Amino acid sequence: MLELEKFIRDVPDFPKKGIVFKDITPLLADPAALECAIEQLARPYLGAGVRTVVGIESRGFILGAAVARVLQAGFVPLRKAGKLPWKTVRKSYALEYGTDSIEIHADAVGSGDKVLMIDDLLATGGTMQAACQLVSQLGGKIVGVAFLVELDFLAGRAKLDGYDIHTLIHVK
Ligand code: AMP
Repeated sequence: MLELEKFIRDVPDFPKKGIVFKDITPLLADPAALECAIEQLARPYLGAGVRTVVGIESRGFILGAAVARVLQAGFVPLRKAGKLPWKTVRKSYALEYGTDSIEIHADAVGSGDKVLMIDDLLATGGTMQAACQLVSQLGGKIVGVAFLVELDFLAGRAKLDGYDIHTLIHVK
């Protein structure tokens, strides 16, 4: 079994001072690490009847599409406001300073569809909480919420109470 955390690069003060950015590009670039990560993200949901994997912009697209192939599911992108071309539903959520908004195509998830939510990293949890609210609004049944990395010290999982959370790498 590979130690996936060895493929995550810490970049201090990016994109702004005080943030330690978790750069997953070394993991994506390594054939064995990428395969291991995708297999492990998908494993708890094999046979769970997942119809749709929803990935959050932008690194969630890379992981989510690969996991969708393993689960023989479809893939749906959830994007920053203003990027999707069709009719959308939008949700705003609080950041440390100000707010941000994400959108999903209004017809992307059917009522009762089983959905797996994917992003690269769980920090404060605001992004994934808003994403789950949008998918639920469309009638999707969220069977799991999966991340490559979770920053445990930010306690983001408190915002995802009631969901099955699956994380490969915990940062204390
Ligand atoms: P949050 O809503 O606070 O949980 O932030 C999660 C989103 O922001 C994810 O899409 C992450 O890709 C990104 N993010 C937040 N903090 C970091 C970090 N330290 N390193 C890399 N990405 C981050």
